Amino acid sequence: MTSPWYSEIWRIALLLAAGWLLGHFVGSPSWGLVAVLLAYILWQLLNLKKLYAWLADARNSETPSSGGAWGTVFYRLQRLDAKHQEERRASQDLLERYKLATRALPEATVTLGAGGEIELINDAAGRLLGLKDPEDLGRPITNLIRIPDFVEFMGKRDYRETLDLPSPAVDGIALSVRVVELNEIGKRLLLARDISRVRKLEQVRRDFIANVSHEMKSPLTVIKGYAESLLDDCSEHTVKWRKPLTQINQQTVRLCDIVEDLLQLSNLETSPDNKALAPVDMPALVSSLLEEAIELSKGRHQLDSDVDKELFLLGSFNELYSAFSNIVFNAVRYTPTGGRVEVRWYRDTAGGARFEVSDTGPGIAAEHLPRLTERFYRVNQARSRELGGTGLGLAIVKHVLLRHDARLEVESRLDEGSAFRCIFPTARVCGKTSPRGSAVPRSDRHGQPGDRELA
Ligand code: ADP
Repeated sequence: MTSPWYSEIWRIALLLAAGWLLGHFVGSPSWGLVAVLLAYILWQLLNLKKLYAWLADARNSETPSSGGAWGTVFYRLQRLDAKHQEERRASQDLLERYKLATRALPEATVTLGAGGEIELINDAAGRLLGLKDPEDLGRPITNLIRIPDFVEFMGKRDYRETLDLPSPAVDGIALSVRVVELNEIGKRLLLARDISRVRKLEQVRRDFIANVSHEMKSPLTVIKGYAESLLDDCSEHTVKWRKPLTQINQQTVRLCDIVEDLLQLSNLETSPDNKALAPVDMPALVSSLLEEAIELSKGRHQLDSDVDKELFLLGSFNELYSAFSNIVFNAVRYTPTGGRVEVRWYRDTAGGARFEVSDTGPGIAAEHLPRLTERFYRVNQARSRELGGTGLGLAIVKHVLLRHDARLEVESRLDEGSAFRCIFPTARVCGKTSPRGSAVPRSDRHGQPGDRELA
């Protein structure tokens, strides 16, 4: 097909030739050429006017028509417009289907643009997050939900974790917020799920355990007291009762330990986070711990320590003592005679601090490591019971560390030993200023070594 531009050039050439001929017949070829050129310019202006009028109101007017190159241009524009309209209809259709699907979802669903502005919301987002369609579309979500934790969560742009949040629209509703990145330019999908029922069930479970533990504490203390007195009073006539009484005493001590640990866990779960941070004298804490470890080891192990004397930690002395004592006493209890236990407290390369306990004990197989901090999870049930373990020690460690923004790392090899590392962030580390808590009453400490040694 000949290009419209070539045809147009031919057309102009023919027009000029016709103008020249006409002008020649009337005696002035140049006037003939001028007349033809003026007519051509007028025709161009007319077509430009048509194009301009159509572009100004393309939605409502028909595509103009004309001859020559303009005809081809108008025809192409018409085809482009038709294609564009078809694409718009398809994406509108897709959008309607997406809206219909998300409308049915019980989860609040909000599509966010790269700048965090709201693009789409479903009905549940109106109910749970208080967002309005269409009023809030185009507005940044953090201008509408101003809860500080939420603003910080959205700003971090690391969405591997979920965020628990009270509903900004309905009192008493707890939400779990998750963000999914949709593309590399920053489009995101925010999902908020009502977790009030789960929270209530968790509360019921916590209350139940705390209540049962409280109820059991007094009767157990009485039984333990009587068993101890009867054992002390065992005369020759009652010597046959010594064995059953010893067993009653041992089992009661075990139950008392479990109740103590359960109460401690429930306290850790229910009491608010310790926001008023006090510097804890870690060197004093570790030295106190080592004294108890030496008492528990009874000379069966080599106990070493390496402590940064200038390094203090912001937190709760009692909670930290409880967590660290569980780790140290575990190392002593599980490491066979002749083994070595090393306690370290040092600053790490990232500026944080680490409390580390390594031993040359039996080690833990890799498949058990992810489950160690679960309640009552024991690698070897019989061995743990025999050593007086409650199965709750590392669960307590996990909770205490969570309350101190820290995490537990466990490295272990079977038959070689284990290393338990508590990793604290820089924000929790401080120097030797106004040390507090270097003396803690024995009754406040968790896991008295003597109590655990029942075997
Ligand atoms: P327990 O009271 O039974 O010691 P913990 O929660 O303190 O409960 O520990 C969970 C389990 O982890 C223990 O039963 C034990 O099998 C294992 N464990 C903990 N510390 C060590 C260690 N230092 N060496 C070997 N196994 C360990």
